Amino acid sequence: SRYFTIHDHPQGLPDRELFKLEESDLPELQDGEVRIRNTWLSVDPYMRGRMDGVTTYIEPFELGKPLEGAAVGEVIESRDSRFKEGDKVRHMGGWRDIAQLPGNQVESLPDFDVPEQAYLGVLGMPGTTAWVGLNIIAEIKEGDNVLVSAASGAVGSLAVQLAKAKGGTVVGIAGDQKKLDWLESKGIKAVSYKGKDARQLSEDIKNACPEGFDVYYENVGGDCLEAALNNLKVGARIAVCGMISRYNDEGPSAGPSNLAMILIRRARMQGFIVFDHWQHHTDFINEFGPKVAKGEIDYQETVEEGLEKTPDAFLKLFEGGNQGKMLVKL
Ligand code: NDP
Repeated sequence: SRYFTIHDHPQGLPDRELFKLEESDLPELQDGEVRIRNTWLSVDPYMRGRMDGVTTYIEPFELGKPLEGAAVGEVIESRDSRFKEGDKVRHMGGWRDIAQLPGNQVESLPDFDVPEQAYLGVLGMPGTTAWVGLNIIAEIKEGDNVLVSAASGAVGSLAVQLAKAKGGTVVGIAGDQKKLDWLESKGIKAVSYKGKDARQLSEDIKNACPEGFDVYYENVGGDCLEAALNNLKVGARIAVCGMISRYNDEGPSAGPSNLAMILIRRARMQGFIVFDHWQHHTDFINEFGPKVAKGEIDYQETVEEGLEKTPDAFLKLFEGGNQGKMLVKL
């Protein structure tokens, strides 16, 4: 098996050299275990936090041990009666070509008429996150105006479409023209944050939706949060999904200077972790699997080819090098 490790905790944005591709023979398959040839690997922003060596809501990566992450693949050998050779499965043994895991950490892919990698994106953890953030945390209602940051990413691109279906004005913040164009093609008003300070961004958001927002779906933090706070309606709800602009900060992060807007607008701001709400995943895919299969939900992918490219794919998340879900195809 070939797999990636790190041998040090990164400071700031990790160097490409942090990631070591290693190789070792797998032990003989034990009773209850499954061996899987991975076909697609997911790289996700939260993995940066696991590199710091501290436990947050999830254990840190162990130095020198194979990194982990969501993956889909095909069973090549099974000593668990629930799986047989050829089964398509999802599991957390990513960042490697061959995974060997206890069967209870492996799940069969549902059989909606979608490409298997959709279960790492729109029908996987990121898709479920978009749904949970809007419905459970922000309690979105018909006609709500919704602002979404990192709006063309894996989570954001579904969040804007789910929000749009509620009928209000939806504004998406994103980095480059291709992403803005995609958003506009979905009927979403698109605002770029590039080269702007919080005050300028706040003005541009206001121009896109002068009435303000009932919901802010937060993926970025920093200036996006500051600009969003200036544009809340009274009683707004903020679902804090992520703050990717801060994940590589080396010192304390500057907070928004206008947190008092929470008070002035009587707003509620709540963080969440999708796995606390994983009981909704099955209902989510049963509702959205058919819609994705019929093309009623649009999703995009950015694909790097080959296991060697996994760290590059991961690092691109922090420079906006992905549109939709960032994936590695093996
Ligand atoms: P994305 O597909 O959205 O990829 C990350 C995107 O973030 C980039 O493409 C880039 O888009 C944007 N970005 C990166 N750095 C910055 C920056 N400094 N300022 C502004 N934008 C930036 O990733 P995901 O959809 O997987 O994740 C989105 C967010 O959701 C993350 O914050 C992640 O941590 C969070 N998350 C939280 C979960 C939870 O349970 N709470 C679960 C899953 C994800 P652009 O070109 O627009 O800059």
